[in-house]
Amino acid sequence: MYPELKLFIAGEWRTTASDMPVVNPATEQEIGRLPRAAKSDLDDALEAAEKGFRIWSRTSPRKRSDVILRAAALMRARQEEIAHSITLEHGKPLPQARLEVIRGAEFFEWDAGEAMRTYGRVIPAAHGHKFSVHHQPIGVVAAFSPWNFPMSQPARKIAGALASGCSIILKAAEETPAGAIHIARAFEDAGLPPGVLNLLFGEPSEISGYLIPQEPVRLVAFTGSTAIGRHLTTLASENMTSVLMELGGHAPVIVCEDTDVDMAAVSGAVRKMRNAGQVCTSPTRFFVHERIFDDFAATFVERAAATVVGNGMDDGVEMGPLANERRVPVLTDLVEDARAKGADVATGGARFGETGYFFEPTVLMNVPDDARIMQEEPFGPIAVINPVSSLDDAIAKANAVPYGLAGYAFTNRADYIDRMIDEVEVGNLSINTLEASMPETPFGGVKSSGYGREGGAEGLDNYMTVKHVWHSAKIT
Ligand code: NAD
Repeated sequence: MYPELKLFIAGEWRTTASDMPVVNPATEQEIGRLPRAAKSDLDDALEAAEKGFRIWSRTSPRKRSDVILRAAALMRARQEEIAHSITLEHGKPLPQARLEVIRGAEFFEWDAGEAMRTYGRVIPAAHGHKFSVHHQPIGVVAAFSPWNFPMSQPARKIAGALASGCSIILKAAEETPAGAIHIARAFEDAGLPPGVLNLLFGEPSEISGYLIPQEPVRLVAFTGSTAIGRHLTTLASENMTSVLMELGGHAPVIVCEDTDVDMAAVSGAVRKMRNAGQVCTSPTRFFVHERIFDDFAATFVERAAATVVGNGMDDGVEMGPLANERRVPVLTDLVEDARAKGADVATGGARFGETGYFFEPTVLMNVPDDARIMQEEPFGPIAVINPVSSLDDAIAKANAVPYGLAGYAFTNRADYIDRMIDEVEVGNLSINTLEASMPETPFGGVKSSGYGREGGAEGLDNYMTVKHVWHSAKIT
């Protein structure tokens, strides 16, 4: 079920020597070898992408849309095969991998529609003059996608680029290469011209360091940590290349005293453990009104501790292992730091099992403000539950991090909701649900969570430039 791992350049699949194993995080067994792009592969990808851009930017939006929709239909038809690959390389439960395939297809379908709606406008002008505004594809895109959603993360970037008329060179995550391979196969089968989509793997810093400063690259699109996003933005500034940055988050959840406490607590515990917490919008810092704190925490801890953890291929499993081993000591250190500073570890807190990168669903309570986890995104199955005395207190704490991606609240009070819409510093605010985005809604962050938006009517803006045309009927 796991595909052969290759580079895809100029419409051809390439094998390379490889010493980098791809490992199933539930069993620690090798499932493939990652190809490593050499400098010559990068040069070939650049040349192919330049040629691809010339073809694709002149292809009509309707034709582009048709190809994207055909590829998305193939992904849907191959859902089972793709989902198995994702669970093998990432560890998430198979039903969640199946949903991810559909979500990836939906990103393509949404942007395929948007391809036909990149409207310009006409600006009123004096007699004999015409002012018009045109949106044009920006050029070659260098994109870098992470490992937490092996299919839907590359899908976001490829969809935006191809719908806009750009060509793209994507370096997908080393740990989870198969999702992007399946996407490239679908586009190959759907008739995408060679060079429009190029897929690379290898040493991330070598690939980004070489590609980003190259003249044909006009946009760097990245999803990952704020530290790497900052580094890539610095590289891009060399040529004043645009960037689209989807970076870390540290989502607050404000739980008000009027809410249904049990429902909110169960929803919080279930959503926190989804994808083993490896989601940039994962609800992490729960600020709960002191009047309902004990009841909320008791239900939350009970549900979190009951999470069925195991190999994502097994029936009934709700949470798989962490996707890679290096995250285990990071999470352990965050828990130990919080414990040393006085937090209560209500459940979990450690790695478990003989094999696999399994980490217990973890709930920390009464965590002091100076604990590292109050500032550092855990990106794992750890929730913090702290009491607050008022909405002012909750909003101040929600905003007391450098991040601003997703934020959540449970309340039906209109006056509270009104204030949170104005005052919570995030790009995506959800009330009474812990869902943060859909293909048709704009997604992205403020503050150190990055800039630019993916999805929604705004999703193609980053991939396009704005050209104003002044046409005078006579030479003036
Ligand atoms: P990381 O920043 O080292 O890596 C994240 C991704 O960036 C990986 O896929 C990696 O291949 C890529 N990357 C790393 N260095 C790069 C470089 N020089 N050039 C181009 N790409 C590069 O972090 P990690 O240890 O893999 O994951 C931990 C942190 O990453 C988390 O704390 C989280 O903040 C962040 N992360 C965020 C998302 C998201 O959806 N926003 C996804 C994955 C990881």
